[in-house]
Amino acid sequence: RVSRTFHSLKPPFPLPSPNAAVSAVSYALSLRRNSPFPDSVTAIVDAATGRSISYEELIHRAETLAANLATVLKLSKGDVAFVLSPNLIQVPILYFALLSLGVIVSPANPLSTRSDLTHLFHLSKPTIVFTATSIAERDFGVRTALLDSPEFDSLTRTKIHNPSPLASPTRVTQSDVAAILYSSGTTGMVKGVMLTHRNLTALAGGFHAVGVKRKEPAVFLFTMPFFHVFGFAYSFKAMVLSETVVIMERFSLRRMLSAVSRFRVTNLVVVPSLLVALTKDSVTHEYDLRTLEGIACGSAPLGKETAEAFKAKFPNVAVLQGYGLTEAGGGVARTFVEDAKQVETTGKLLSRVEAKIVNPDTGEAMFPGEQGELWLKSPTIMKGYVNEPEATSATLVNGWLRTGDLCYFDNDGLLYVVDRLKELIKYKGYQVAPAELEKWLLSHPDINDAAVIPYPDEEAGQVPMAIVVRQPQSSLTEAEIIDFVAKQVAPYKKIRRVAFVDAIPKNALGKILRSDLKKLAPSR
Ligand code: AMP
Repeated sequence: RVSRTFHSLKPPFPLPSPNAAVSAVSYALSLRRNSPFPDSVTAIVDAATGRSISYEELIHRAETLAANLATVLKLSKGDVAFVLSPNLIQVPILYFALLSLGVIVSPANPLSTRSDLTHLFHLSKPTIVFTATSIAERDFGVRTALLDSPEFDSLTRTKIHNPSPLASPTRVTQSDVAAILYSSGTTGMVKGVMLTHRNLTALAGGFHAVGVKRKEPAVFLFTMPFFHVFGFAYSFKAMVLSETVVIMERFSLRRMLSAVSRFRVTNLVVVPSLLVALTKDSVTHEYDLRTLEGIACGSAPLGKETAEAFKAKFPNVAVLQGYGLTEAGGGVARTFVEDAKQVETTGKLLSRVEAKIVNPDTGEAMFPGEQGELWLKSPTIMKGYVNEPEATSATLVNGWLRTGDLCYFDNDGLLYVVDRLKELIKYKGYQVAPAELEKWLLSHPDINDAAVIPYPDEEAGQVPMAIVVRQPQSSLTEAEIIDFVAKQVAPYKKIRRVAFVDAIPKNALGKILRSDLKKLAPSR
């Protein structure tokens, strides 16, 4: 009889006891000791400046910073530190320092507008903001430190003697909250996803279990931001496996290609829209990309045609996919080199991950080959949404995380993502919550009712499309609506299409019937 629960085929990796007084950082550092590579390996390279630091220096600077954050900035366990920064070398140093003190790290998109920040601060209540000189917003209403300032640099270099150190060093335990990341989940506005030290410990343990199969450390060029769960997780992966990470503060295809040849990059981590660009753009021929061995793609669906066109253009580069979500603390399934031939699958469940495919109408668990909502169990799954018990209990059901993704497994345990049941729109891998755009649309005096749905787009994956009911006699145009919203939101959240209708279909409770509206947009 075929089981209706899908288990990872990989053996479970070891984990400390759930109550152990060990932070995710100290656990990751202990796993690092098994690395075949010395601490002199380059940890991070900034592609723009060529500046780099070794693991030895990264660890030393994170430890020095932690001591100074406690004594000089008086940060302590349970405080929330907001991080609003592009990908800088300082970011992982800061993450490790904060986490080792039990300070909760809350990184967010540096493109966030003032109104986004008001909402995020309301959720996480930070006591300090770490930001960078390139961020326009300055007045956060709380203490602010600049990551790329000489003052910050010195905090990472020398322990500043302080006559009144903490009375007793705080002990971080596995159940403590480690980070608050942001996601709109299956419905509504952006929420704060609480990940615990346990979650991040399991993440580190999972990366360690995959192990190192190379003679030289891999060189990953990482285009994902450190504030996103994949970037966040990646700082742990690199630490545990001694990988070199090439980061880019500002992205362009040419800059990325030149960094690949300059730093002899072996692996790229990208979102599908970048894979499309690599496939279509002929500038790739101007660069020496022979060191590339693999490209890992995640965050949004990768089209079969794109994957195949990429393989035809770069036959020596393995295309690997990963699937995950913020609420699951990162990736839960990925393809390994042995199953990379199949481009449509997002791969097999990672160690310690269990899954069910649940019929959204009947709640029944389905068999291989049958589609339904993917539910997950894993030690990396979030504790819940901060201060939102209702959203939490709607998402975490009897220990299972409801992903809001329509999926199926085949008989070999490979996972396929078919569609998104949840409202979430993904523009170039970035989360856009329809509820937020609907709120802006409804604030317009000429708009009577509105809904926002994803519209398929080859380059971006999806773009937000507004379905609008105008007030009687209003002559509001598509361009005016696009412009109105664009003034309020970060550029990646812009409305890019508009359709006018007489009424928004709703159920008896007034909930928007999004599946009916989606018929206004072509299916992918
Ligand atoms: P985030 O929390 O921003 O990582 O968004 C998670 C969502 O992105 C998932 O629930 C999926 O809808 C989507 N997603 C992530 N990875 C993939 C993938 N490989 N294929 C299809 N959708 C994906």
